[in-house]
Amino acid sequence: MTKVLPDEHGGGFSTRAIHAGQRPDPTSGAIMPPIFQTSTYAQEALGVNTGYEYARGKNPTRECLERNVAALEGAQHGFAFSSGMGCVDSIMKLFKAGDHVVVGANVYGGTYRLFDKILQNFGMRFSWVDTRDPQRIADAMQSNTVAVMLETPTNPLMQLTDIAAAAQIAKRHGALTVVDNTFATAFFQNPLQLGADIVWHSSTKYLNGHSDVIGGVAVCNDDELARRLQFNLNSAGAVPGPMDSWLTLRGTKTFALRMRQHDANGRAIAQWLAGRVGETEVFYPGLASHPQHELAKRQMRGFGGMVSVETGSKANANTVVTRLKVFTLAESLGGVESLVCQPAGMTHASVEPARRLEIGITDGLLRFSCGVEDVEDLLADLEQAFRGL
Ligand SMILES: *Cc1c(COP(=O)(O)O)cnc(C)c1O
Repeated sequence: MTKVLPDEHGGGFSTRAIHAGQRPDPTSGAIMPPIFQTSTYAQEALGVNTGYEYARGKNPTRECLERNVAALEGAQHGFAFSSGMGCVDSIMKLFKAGDHVVVGANVYGGTYRLFDKILQNFGMRFSWVDTRDPQRIADAMQSNTVAVMLETPTNPLMQLTDIAAAAQIAKRHGALTVVDNTFATAFFQNPLQLGADIVWHSSTKYLNGHSDVIGGVAVCNDDELARRLQFNLNSAGAVPGPMDSWLTLRGTKTFALRMRQHDANGRAIAQWLAGRVGETEVFYPGLASHPQHELAKRQMRGFGGMVSVETGSKANANTVVTRLKVFTLAESLGGVESLVCQPAGMTHASVEPARRLEIGITDGLLRFSCGVEDVEDLLADLEQAFRGL
């Protein structure tokens, strides 16, 4: 846990992305934060130390990252983890057997797997709800509900949840609102400002942005919640190494630049796909035809680079992915390079086929992570890949 310093909330987004959490190293003047590659710290006398005792609990490079991301989300406290899943696992350890959690039916496949295949065995209970309709969240609340867990937009169908409405319902029941903000990112959406209690990210994706680190971050405002999260972080120990923390900090410096380009490319590609296969087959909150476009405009400041498209069949999907040259067939998203994946067989393979179909993830669905290459090259690549389909 690292508390943001008062002056770190100042300035615009890009200024914070570059400076928050970092200042020249006092011993050398090094402009960039050193990589504190150490597991422990010398102590002066019994009970006398610098505040750093053992690096599972605290590492100065990690603290720079924690302060940086907290400032980007407008939060008081930041926490860095070894992965997005390590992060949500430590968040879930705020709860206990018998507790009930309302979860979006369409959350990340790994989140579903953690909750359904592991945490359920420890006596936690989950209701999987289509959170697009706040009334369904209200209907699912029970006397033992401790949290409402949302992801908006969802992966890969880009369905939105009204964060402010969901948080109001949760608050009425004394439950926490927890939002996975990996897709929208801190650049386009800040759930804490809409009433959420904890926001988390797979920093593997847009925050780091270069497809070379696995990581997770969480932020919150409440001091007591922060103390409990820090306790879990240190007790469960899913912490990132200093080198990964440093690489992620390098990534966040260009965060604003990258997100603007992801957004511009995402919009152009969604438009092109809508013209090519029809608006109803393209899933992108920035399209006026998206059923929740108004909500997207209200709670997001942009729409990002994630676009999904229904190609009609697994054979069509395979033709497209094998023809694409600039887009690489791979899992993951949010890097500078463009990727394409087939959620049914890749990111969501751990979800049972019947459940996949129920939530709309067909074998013909493709998900594009539009990178920051020249958009003309991306469009030309799509043009040749969709030819004749
Ligand atoms: C990738 C991802 C995760 C999991 O994060 P890891 O860093 O891979 O552990 C969680 N949520 C979303 C939306 C993701 O895209």
